[in-house]
Amino acid sequence: MSDTPPSDNPLLDFSGLPRFDAIRAEHVAPAMRNLVESARATVESIATDNRPATWDTVVEPLAGALDRIDRAWGAVHHLNAVVSNPGWRDAYHDALPAVTAFFTDLGQDVRLYARYRELAGVPSFATLDPARRRVVTNELRDFRLGGAELPPAEKARLKEVHAELALLAARFEDNLLDATNAWALYVTDASELSGVPQSVLDEARAAAMAEGKPGWKLTLRMPCYLPVLSHADNRALRATMHRAFATRASDLGASEAWDNTAVIRRILVLRREAAQILGYPNFAALSLVPKMAKSVDEVLEFLRDLGRRAKPFAERDYADLVEFAASELGLDTLEPWDRGYASEKLKTKRYAFSEQELRRYFPEDKVLAGLFRVAETLYGISIRKSAAPTWHPDVGFFEVLDASGALIGQFYLDTYARAGKQGGAWQDDAINRRRAGAEVQLPVAYLNCNLSAPTANAPATFTHDEIITLFHEFGHGLHQLLTRVEVAGVSGIQGVEWDAVELPSQFMENFCWEWNVLSQMTAHVDTGEPLPRQLFDRMVAARNFQSGLATIGQIESGLFDMLLHSSYDPGGDRTPQDVLDEVRSEVSVTPKAPYDRFMHSFAHIFAGGYAAGYYSYKWAAVLSADAFSVFEEDGVEWPVAGERFRDEVLARGGTRDAMESFVAFRGRAPQLDALLRHNGMTTPTPP
Ligand SMILES: [Zn+2]
Repeated sequence: MSDTPPSDNPLLDFSGLPRFDAIRAEHVAPAMRNLVESARATVESIATDNRPATWDTVVEPLAGALDRIDRAWGAVHHLNAVVSNPGWRDAYHDALPAVTAFFTDLGQDVRLYARYRELAGVPSFATLDPARRRVVTNELRDFRLGGAELPPAEKARLKEVHAELALLAARFEDNLLDATNAWALYVTDASELSGVPQSVLDEARAAAMAEGKPGWKLTLRMPCYLPVLSHADNRALRATMHRAFATRASDLGASEAWDNTAVIRRILVLRREAAQILGYPNFAALSLVPKMAKSVDEVLEFLRDLGRRAKPFAERDYADLVEFAASELGLDTLEPWDRGYASEKLKTKRYAFSEQELRRYFPEDKVLAGLFRVAETLYGISIRKSAAPTWHPDVGFFEVLDASGALIGQFYLDTYARAGKQGGAWQDDAINRRRAGAEVQLPVAYLNCNLSAPTANAPATFTHDEIITLFHEFGHGLHQLLTRVEVAGVSGIQGVEWDAVELPSQFMENFCWEWNVLSQMTAHVDTGEPLPRQLFDRMVAARNFQSGLATIGQIESGLFDMLLHSSYDPGGDRTPQDVLDEVRSEVSVTPKAPYDRFMHSFAHIFAGGYAAGYYSYKWAAVLSADAFSVFEEDGVEWPVAGERFRDEVLARGGTRDAMESFVAFRGRAPQLDALLRHNGMTTPTPP
């Protein structure tokens, strides 16, 4: 097969948005080869340039080459995640080694490193624009962490390690996706599905019909799995689905081919090796260098402190549930597959509403309009629907305008769960804001969720949790889109410490609990009625239902991740499962099923960017809760506080320390109080 000539390859067209109507898997190999070759040539010319090192002779030309790779590879990476099929997967895997090798070589290039040091050493460096100074300082750090100071043999080995790690991460995600998609349960007897919400049944019915099968097709994707576990009266059905879900991609899963056990072990061995080559005792120590947290001990102490505070609340949550399940549901032993079901029943009884009834007040169009209105009110922007080529007919495309009506950014919104799309919800940058000559390149974001889809005769309606997810990803999107920085590497989310990245996202979640926000985004799907105030009050009362258990769950994951990447010896006799068991005996209050293989689907730390960083969610929750508490003070006008949040946090990107941005917004260092208050954990023991 002959390659598409560069001029016809849509991945090499940087004149505007990615050309999703034209990009095909066969374009990947020639495009990435072309881009990597030309970036290597750029590096060569910068490294061998005899002129003095300046911003314009060193940083600027490299930024242009990297921007093109980021944009093209970003589109490929994105497509592989949202429309995964064998063609895309092969194209991604085939191109991955060359791209990884390029970035490893770049980070290790001692000549380029010398150019950056020269630039940082000239007297005029002190007068350089602070954003530019920050980029150079970050680069110097990254050269060191990339191995630029290593002897040749170690450099070569580190390169091999990076290459293998990149493939292992892709493999982990593929196994998880395949294991999730391969499982289905066809039910033909309606009585076996009693309790399952109608909207879920409608979708399951449509899925079976699409395959020419009778009955209902149940899957392990969130919009099906979660409601079945929370609502199906059929205990055996819950047990079957729980087991299938909890053993995905594991040694107990449906196929050996998707078992992530060996992938996990190998990832841990290689991460430790990479850290030690660079002079760090373990991967966690290496991972913390560019983060807010200063040391492994600081993180462990933070998590354990929060764990100690949450534990009595979690114990009470669980005791209440066990008692309720026994006395009201006749469940003498509360099994892991009963927990969601019993919780839903207890919540319904205690607060007199059910999530599935509530969602009928939240049709998609009202929710989106409400979300946009919050952002518009807070940040003085406006958002309008627009059109662009996308990768799926369900995907929306939107423009963000500033107060003067000028375009400042754009985003894609891929809302629903579907086959071939990775699970979870995430934001990715498509294009980063940067000045290129006279032009400013505007930012573009991908927002991806796995929410409930519309059915043939009803619009999509969202649970409150799904709405929170939408607000969360939108918060990441705003961080990317509302930046004012024009320097690549520190605009948008780039260059922000990883453990501060969840600040804007979790900050936005808070608005899902405000009456004047929520009440504006409701219209019952049958009656058109807005959400009654009384129902909202019950939601708020239920806000901290089982918040102790939820906090402990996050602490468990965070501690496991941190210990796995610090004190655990991947070359020793103990297994990662041993570490997880130990963490659970330290903090957990709920028994786990013996087959529970949570780790095998923990993509955040094995395939995403959260390795030795999962604690970031709680770390940033302290910041986001404390930041939001400004809006809870009397007499605060939202547009005023919102504008300050934009100016001091969202617009700044990575141009200064996240702590500095926080203090500039809040007027003081962060405090834990607001988070504890929001979680209903203000007294040392439960009331
Ligand atoms: Zn997030």
